[in-house]
Amino acid sequence: MDNLPDPGPEKCIFCQIAANKSPAEVEYSDQNVVGFWDIHAHAPVHILIIPRKHISSIEDVKEEDWPIVSQMFKAAREIAHKKNLHNNGYRLVVNYGINAGAMVDHLHLHLLGGKNLGPIA
Ligand code: 5GP
Ligand code: ZN
Repeated sequence: MDNLPDPGPEKCIFCQIAANKSPAEVEYSDQNVVGFWDIHAHAPVHILIIPRKHISSIEDVKEEDWPIVSQMFKAAREIAHKKNLHNNGYRLVVNYGINAGAMVDHLHLHLLGGKNLGPIA
């Protein structure tokens, strides 16, 4: 999207985190999905949910990857419950491209909660 080549799994910070080669505060881990705290939290709870598989963005999800996307949402809901966000609500966000300010080329779902998040934009 930004015309820069995808660095690929070798140099991908989120792949490194998923492989335990880079530190992160991990909240959730299963065979296909990892959830960890965003390094610059924008809310009292701000957790990123990623597939272990290097999928560059929502635009790069292949037909066979949709079950993993579903598992990301399932993990997000599970974490939201664990953090007791479900009573007052929470937000799930996927950024893609320049207009959304997407920065990391590894698909991720933002889970935000713990305060009134206001309107989406
Ligand atoms: P995007 O704009 O691509 O949807 O968001 C990327 C998010 O990843 C940002 O909120 C940023 O703070 C977070 N982030 C970037 N690098 C790291 C990192 O090395 N560790 C963690 N935990 N979060 C990161
Ligand atoms: Zn990656």
